[in-house]
Amino acid sequence: MSHREGTGTPAGGPAVMVLAHNDDEVFINARIRALIRSGGEVQAVWLTAGLLAPSPDTRREESRAAMAYLGVPAEKLSFWDYPDLRTLGHLEEIVSRLASYLSTAVPAEIYVPSFEGGHPDHDVANFAVSQAVCRSTLAAQVYEFPVTNACRGRVPVLGGFVPDSVPVLRTPRRPEDRRVWLRLWQLHRSQYRYLRIPLALCLDRSRWREGEPYRPLPRHNYLERPHGGRLGYERLLGFHFGRFRSAVREYLEAHGA
Ligand SMILES: [Zn+2]
Repeated sequence: MSHREGTGTPAGGPAVMVLAHNDDEVFINARIRALIRSGGEVQAVWLTAGLLAPSPDTRREESRAAMAYLGVPAEKLSFWDYPDLRTLGHLEEIVSRLASYLSTAVPAEIYVPSFEGGHPDHDVANFAVSQAVCRSTLAAQVYEFPVTNACRGRVPVLGGFVPDSVPVLRTPRRPEDRRVWLRLWQLHRSQYRYLRIPLALCLDRSRWREGEPYRPLPRHNYLERPHGGRLGYERLLGFHFGRFRSAVREYLEAHGA
C-alpha cells in the first residue's frame, strides 16, 4: 500500500478506525481530518456500548455527531454494543466479526487504540485487530494510537505513547487543532463531565507542538505486560493483566499460534 507519511491518503481502500469506546475517535481526530481533506474515505466501528452515560443511544449519538463534524457520514459508522469492560469475554467472536468486517471493507489502513494497559477494551481491540488482519490475509497497514496509560505511575498519561524504541509518526499540526479538540469533547459531553479535569492535567501536550501521534502497529507480545509497574486498569479498575494474558493465551492455543 502506498502512503504518504503524516498527511497522505491511503491508496486502494478506506481507512478503518476500530475503536473500543465512543470518544476514542477524539484521540485520532487529526488523522481522520487529514484523510478526509485529501479525499480519503474513513469508516469506523465501535466495539462497546459505553458505560458512563444515560444510555448507549446517547453514546452513539455523540459519536455520530463527532464523526459528522470530522466529515464522516453516519452510513460509514458501525456500533457493535458489546458491554463496556467485558470485551475480553467475547474475544473469539470479536476477532471473527472483525475479520469479516475488514474483508468486506478492504481497508488500506486500519487504526486502533494502543496496547498500553490503560483500558482492557483498548487492549482487546488492539489484539483483535492484529488477529483479524492475520486471519483475513489483508494487506492493510495497521496503526495504533495512544489513549491512556500509567507508564509514569500514579498520574495517568492521556494521548501519549509508553516510551519505547518504536518510531512515532505525527499528523502535522494545524491552527484549528485545539478548537476541534474542544468541540469534539463538547459533542461528547456525557464523557467530558468525567474527563475534563484528567484531560486538563494529564494530556500529553506534545500533540500541540508536534502533531497528533500514531505509529505502525508493533509486533506486540500480548502475553507480556505493556509496561513495567502497575497498569492503568490495575490502578483504576482493579482489572489485573493476568486476566488479559489468560484469555489471549487461550485464544492463541486454540488457534495454534
Ligand atoms: Zn476508550
